[in-house]
Amino acid sequence: MSLYERARAVIPGGVSSPVRSFGAVGGEPFFVAGAEGPYLVATDGTRYLDYVQSWGASILGHAHPALVEAVQRAAAAGTSYGAPTEREVLLAEAIRDRVPSVEKVRLVSSGTEAAMTALRLARGATGRDKIVKFAGCYHGHVDSLLVAAGSGVATFGLPGSAGVTPGAVADTLVVPYNDDAALDAVFAEHGADIAAVIVEPVAANMGLVAPGAGFLSGLRARCDAHRALLIFDEVITGFRVGLGGAQALYGVTPDLSIFGKVIGGGLPLAAVGGPGGLMEELAPVGSVYQAGTLSGNPLATAAGLAVLEQLDDALYVSLADRAAFLAAGLTTVMGEAGLAVQVPRVATLVGLFFSPTPVRDYEGAHGADVKTHAAFFHALLRRGVFVAPSAFEAVFVSAAHGWPDLERTVELAADAAAEVVSGAGPDC
Ligand SMILES: *Cc1c(COP(=O)(O)O)cnc(C)c1O
Repeated sequence: MSLYERARAVIPGGVSSPVRSFGAVGGEPFFVAGAEGPYLVATDGTRYLDYVQSWGASILGHAHPALVEAVQRAAAAGTSYGAPTEREVLLAEAIRDRVPSVEKVRLVSSGTEAAMTALRLARGATGRDKIVKFAGCYHGHVDSLLVAAGSGVATFGLPGSAGVTPGAVADTLVVPYNDDAALDAVFAEHGADIAAVIVEPVAANMGLVAPGAGFLSGLRARCDAHRALLIFDEVITGFRVGLGGAQALYGVTPDLSIFGKVIGGGLPLAAVGGPGGLMEELAPVGSVYQAGTLSGNPLATAAGLAVLEQLDDALYVSLADRAAFLAAGLTTVMGEAGLAVQVPRVATLVGLFFSPTPVRDYEGAHGADVKTHAAFFHALLRRGVFVAPSAFEAVFVSAAHGWPDLERTVELAADAAAEVVSGAGPDC
């Protein structure tokens, strides 16, 4: 029996998170035996140049020596205490010192938990019920945010998953990304009831979609006018597009920010941050309850601190250069092969849409050609390059991706694109 068959016998779909299945591209996922720098090594010994990087968590590449050492040292001193530690303070200080809007931080264990906490805090602090989210933005599997995309106009959400009750999403309003008019309509109708607007300041879960000019500042202004809170979900963008996250990149200050992925360095760690007064609405000071047995876990804080120590402006400049090289290279070779693609880039983040026109919202993203994407995914994988097994994810370049790796990736992409166009690849 293959490992995948054994996995499916005891784990639904054989995976611990659905995005890891090859459901969207066909075929069977490989299993990882280990990883180093830009590479994943599969259980059959195949080495893949990895552009998933734990869905963006590993900005330094895999098994960075400083991180490995920090985690080993931490583990030897105990893996969890259920009592406060110095590293929680150090990590909170490190986040506060880097992110403009953050004065106080609550550490949690996943982005989902951070989103859930931010919403509860926003509702508790404002005494209002409604939340605005954008179609195509992902904030973890929080019930009230698992809402099907409304298309075109602002709409009351319908549950996007079985098991989410209509009641759980009754206070969620869904608006198209980059659509100021729809936002105005929703504020005009519900302004006095809106606790918060939650947004990915750069959308990276419907492929990569940049905020249009003035979109984020417009959001800030509307929230101010209606005394709603603005929540930036920086779980991907935080410490990824730059030290200060998207809020520093675009110069727009949210009330609350949530972080995950990069700040945990591949361990379960996420955070909610904001102004001191607002954050102190959280228990034990305030009346908004929130807790976690493993919150601020000593291994996770050790990993987070080790990563943050490596990140400086020079690293982001170098990472953005690499991302730009990859984006330009992909644009060229895919175009030469005759494939209509968009390769958007925001700082260090790269996207890839099989679409003839630029994508600015969820509806546009879903116009992309997922069949060609799937063929390209497999053609690349056969050549030893692993990108996300979905047409709606970002391409993550890490600091461990060297120039030769990137050059080889572009060459292999050219080869893969030619195969896709010729239809020569095996069926999958
Ligand atoms: C990954 C992600 C989350 C959820 O984080 P988990 O740690 O998987 O729960 C939330 N928001 C964004 C923008 C994400 O990319």
